[in-house]
Amino acid sequence: MWGSNKRNAFRIKILLQRKPHKFLKKPKIFLRRPEFYFSLNKNMKKKTVVLLSGGIDSSTALYIAKKNGYKCNCLIFDYGQRHSREIKSAVRIAKKAGCPHKVLKISLPWKGSSLLDNKIKLPERRRKKAIPSTYVPARNTILLVFALSFAESINASRIFIGAHIEDYSGYPDCRPEFFKAFNKVKNLGTKFGKKIKIVIPLIYKTKAEIIKIGRRLMVPYHLTWSCYKGGKIPCGKCDSCYYRLKGFSEAGMDDPLKYERSKNI
Ligand SMILES: [Zn+2]
Repeated sequence: MWGSNKRNAFRIKILLQRKPHKFLKKPKIFLRRPEFYFSLNKNMKKKTVVLLSGGIDSSTALYIAKKNGYKCNCLIFDYGQRHSREIKSAVRIAKKAGCPHKVLKISLPWKGSSLLDNKIKLPERRRKKAIPSTYVPARNTILLVFALSFAESINASRIFIGAHIEDYSGYPDCRPEFFKAFNKVKNLGTKFGKKIKIVIPLIYKTKAEIIKIGRRLMVPYHLTWSCYKGGKIPCGKCDSCYYRLKGFSEAGMDDPLKYERSKNI
């Protein structure tokens, strides 16, 4: 184990010397292999809350937390989504990972998103960088506030969330600046303050990179669900299916799910 830690320390040293991305200021902890983010610190075996939606990103974040020795408590939200398929997937993934989970039912009766309102058309193969109709107003703020309350109540020192920069192209509450700002709220508005850390291990990763990390961690992608539509099998046409299939294709992997249409994008 010590040999492994020495190798990780060497990897960290090398990676920290790399130049930051052309456009993005990356945090010092940016590593190519986030499953080793925390293997050098003393927080192993401590509790964490993981926001689990049942998709690729949050499932990978859960397995990263597990890999780093955290006792994970999965928080799953039923916030009135178009379908409950992703909630079932999230529950299955939490069980597969051997982690306790809570499904929290909250209500957003004002809707304001195609994910909540069946009358609004779901986008297909979105190319523009505009905020899509699937944006749920202030969703990450809402979910993080609940996660923070849960974490404080069970003495958890971390909150893992699988947000990443590709979503930031469409969702303002996935941008790194949002998490930085929320950190201030957390530090000033809770009893534990800075003792709780919000961990966003995938923030600068692409979908393909996330899938490659997940493959190394044996994330059960066959249990995940990304499609915005419900049904027995994913449609393969909606925005979310498109980005998922593109990610698997770029990662050189076959998506274990069957689709209504060809997997070719
Ligand atoms: Zn779909």
